[in-house]
Amino acid sequence: MAYSVKKWDLGELFPGFNTPELQTAFDNVEEQVASFEGVRGKLKADMDAGTFLDVVRASEEILRILNKVYAFAELSFAGDTQDQNAQSLLGRVQQFVAEIQNRTLFFDLWWKDLDAANADRLMAASGDYRYYLEAMRHFKPHTLSEPEEKVVNLKDVTGSNALINLYNAITNRYVFKLEVNGEVRELTRAQLQPYIQGTDAGLRAAAYQELYRVYGQDGPILGQMYQTRARDWHNENITLRKFSTPISSRNLRNDIPDEAVDVLLDVTKKNAKTFQRYFRMKAKHVGMSKLRRYDIYAPVAKSDKAFEFGEAARMVLESFSAFEPRVGELAQRVFDQDHLDSEVRKGKQGGAFCASINPEVTPYVLVNYTGRARDVATLAHELGHAIHTMLASQHSTFTFHSSLPLAETASTFGEMMLTEKLLAVETDEAVRRDILFKQMDDAFATILRQVYFAIFERDAHELVQKNASTDDLCALYMDNLREEFGDSVELSDDFKWEWVSIPHIYHTPFYVYAYAFGQLLVFSLYQQFKAEGESFKPKYLRILSSGGSEAPERILAEAGIDIRSAKFWQGGFDVLSRMVDELEKL
Ligand SMILES: [Zn+2]
Repeated sequence: MAYSVKKWDLGELFPGFNTPELQTAFDNVEEQVASFEGVRGKLKADMDAGTFLDVVRASEEILRILNKVYAFAELSFAGDTQDQNAQSLLGRVQQFVAEIQNRTLFFDLWWKDLDAANADRLMAASGDYRYYLEAMRHFKPHTLSEPEEKVVNLKDVTGSNALINLYNAITNRYVFKLEVNGEVRELTRAQLQPYIQGTDAGLRAAAYQELYRVYGQDGPILGQMYQTRARDWHNENITLRKFSTPISSRNLRNDIPDEAVDVLLDVTKKNAKTFQRYFRMKAKHVGMSKLRRYDIYAPVAKSDKAFEFGEAARMVLESFSAFEPRVGELAQRVFDQDHLDSEVRKGKQGGAFCASINPEVTPYVLVNYTGRARDVATLAHELGHAIHTMLASQHSTFTFHSSLPLAETASTFGEMMLTEKLLAVETDEAVRRDILFKQMDDAFATILRQVYFAIFERDAHELVQKNASTDDLCALYMDNLREEFGDSVELSDDFKWEWVSIPHIYHTPFYVYAYAFGQLLVFSLYQQFKAEGESFKPKYLRILSSGGSEAPERILAEAGIDIRSAKFWQGGFDVLSRMVDELEKL
């Protein structure tokens, strides 16, 4: 059957904003937390493993309800960032979660402080909870006293969390005006995107100029928000928690050694020239002597092929099933249970994401589907995320969700499977060429671009400490772009506002390198798949079904991958370099 574009149904979480079910969930958490507070006196270094496990299970139960309530608030807000019910529920939930965290904090603090011998004894008896408990202890040197931790939690509600909510509310109401065929259209950011990636060179430039005109108008405000976020990050992570650098706080949360991240960033920098070579070559294919930054995503084929949503869904599901039937079945559940919001609406959050709530709940996926080939790839990407957590649903609520760098594995692999499928059925040479070029465009967008964002963040956080103004940060950003593109692309001044339009650097500082990590890892895995065929699949599915139940470094070591080695990362770039060689021959 054919699926169509629609809104998701959040009914499985809660029937609505002011419903008894939602109130009951708040009441249940309240009750369980009151009972959890009673275990404080039972926490002893020599406590038996059975009692300890009961405590962990009780805290998991609280988390499960909170996850549902939080997801309902966040997804409602994402569906309509201007909905006052959603806005106030989100505020209420964030406040509630902070209060609950504060009341249950004593357990985490006790656990981190426990002597190694007893911690090892209890972890050995903890089954699937083990890695969660182990990872928590990594934070021991960065943990404050209970009253201090409580103040941080409470101040975050009205501090950095509120700032991020405001950033979302402000930027998601932007309206972009673009003249198309003599008529001025009012568009959301998602609706502007196809013009940025379209065949018309004039419209590409106009769309980018309009994008950064609108963001630039609020530039001083958005820039100030960023400075505040960076200062908050520094105050908390460096001054209070004593991390050595702003990025190392993220690295520890990802459980990726600083050394591995440094290697990834360095190797990527060294390979910027591969993409620069690609852009010079691409210029010829789009009939230009040199690409402008506006033309990076220009299609090389004349026709802008559009895909009906039903056709897109079918292709994605078929490509997943061709790899492994179970993977296709899992992805189909997202459609069948109406957990997919594909429609473009005013006020709806732009971009795309997948939200995994609890192990047994089919994840929710948001995309803004406009029918371009890239939207089909995004659909495959987000459904890849969904199958990742579904394959790991046998784990606990603490351990089913993989850490960030591995979180982009199934998603990027999903895109590769789709590309393979598209190439297999496409007979038109021009369209095939377009698909191959798009693969390089995507590799640029997920690897080089994200790594340079991370490098910008690293420099920007430092510069904010030196009291940089928004203009200083714009100048820093332009320098960053000049290094990224060399002289392969003509840069215009409007791109100085690009950084204020990147939600990730506001929401989740240093998230972005996870994309590069995921994509390069997938290139390597895909090579293995091509070489090994069927025997590769169990190994790959094992990586996915590990979820977050083990350190990423160990999960990958089992598949023979060493993330600290420059050679491993270079391997991914070698694949790209060969792809450029192939394209040069066309
Ligand atoms: Zn993703």
